[in-house]
Amino acid sequence: MTQTQSRPSLAVIGGGVIGRICALAAADAGWDVHVYDAGPAIRAANVAGGMLGSLGEGHPGEEALLTLSAESTALWPGWIQRLGDPSIVTATDSLFVATTAADGDYLSQLARFVWSGQIGADRLTALTAREARARENALSSRVRGGYLARGEGAIDNHLLLRGLRNALADAGVQWHRMQIDAVSEVSADQVLVAAGMGTPALLPDVPVEPAKGEILRLAGNPTSIPPPRTVIRARVDGRNLYLVPRADGVVVGATQYEPASSHDRAPQAGGVADLLADAFEVMPGLRTYDFAEAAAGVRPCSADGLPVIERVDDRTLVATGHGRNGIVLAPVTASRVLDLLGG
Ligand SMILES: Cc1cc2nc3c(=O)[nH]c(=O)nc-3n(C[C@H](O)[C@H](O)[C@H](O)COP(=O)(O)OP(=O)(O)OC[C@H]3O[C@@H](n4cnc5c(N)ncnc54)[C@H](O)[C@@H]3O)c2cc1C
Repeated sequence: MTQTQSRPSLAVIGGGVIGRICALAAADAGWDVHVYDAGPAIRAANVAGGMLGSLGEGHPGEEALLTLSAESTALWPGWIQRLGDPSIVTATDSLFVATTAADGDYLSQLARFVWSGQIGADRLTALTAREARARENALSSRVRGGYLARGEGAIDNHLLLRGLRNALADAGVQWHRMQIDAVSEVSADQVLVAAGMGTPALLPDVPVEPAKGEILRLAGNPTSIPPPRTVIRARVDGRNLYLVPRADGVVVGATQYEPASSHDRAPQAGGVADLLADAFEVMPGLRTYDFAEAAAGVRPCSADGLPVIERVDDRTLVATGHGRNGIVLAPVTASRVLDLLGG
């Protein structure tokens, strides 16, 4: 695996969303890049909802995450242009709605946090139940008011991964389908470890905790209502639910189990049942959709909720710990990694 080019070489271990976007940024910056990837079975990005959530992701105490998410979300349009496929974007706004008074209080607290800060306050607007239903007329009559978050959209994770893979091939990046068991196995000038939950096995000093999550995919059919146009983020009897539009249906997510095993990727019956029940509570017309898939993945989480993007030694960098926000934070991660590589 020795690479002897005149350009500086970079080996990226892990070909999830983080590995791919960093590899492409480096290739665009002139690096000779090789990606080593163990395959889709352990890739969280394959099951992600694809929300570009920032305002809905930063809660009191998570100001730094909100700032980073907002910075990254602003970089996404440039990346979509780079990939040349606008259909990767499936929504541009999010609608936050509640079903009970307590759920409404929870959302109000989130809105107050956003309005009290510098980030995105002008993008969040309170809506009555009638205004919310005027935007998404398939919302159930149980839905109370909520908030519109402009610019907080979603992307199709499968189209994104394919688009990044095609762009890598076009940029001359070599893809190796193999598991790497030690950083010393790759002999590039620089090595980026972006292996999600596989990172601690390669870099034991980088702790990453697993948080299992399930999602469902529902597919529209000729008799069903159209998918929502916005991302619907609902609080249903104390549980969080999201409905993320796809061209042909909707992704329903997501559960979160902590502590979790880093190897458990089997969707549980109870999680699937809760997601379906909550989805029908918020949008009853989804009952007529075809059930396409139930899937589970393991989010690689850091202790403080912020991604770990840093230099480990003269030759090794790491980018991991993106938790529930790896798709949102991918562009800002690529920028930080390029900075660490020195451009
Ligand atoms: C149910 C669910 C819903 C989610 N929804 C969203 C969402 O709406 N928005 C959002 O922003 N984020 C979401 N996420 C989080 C997001 O999926 C993750 O943060 C993101 O995928 C992390 O990217 P990654 O590239 O670090 O890891 P991964 O996507 O897990 O990719 C890691 C890659 O490394 C490879 N690998 C591992 N070990 C090795 C090794 N030793 N050698 C070679 N290759 C190796 C794997 O094969 C894999 O391809 C969700 C996650 C889950 C589980």
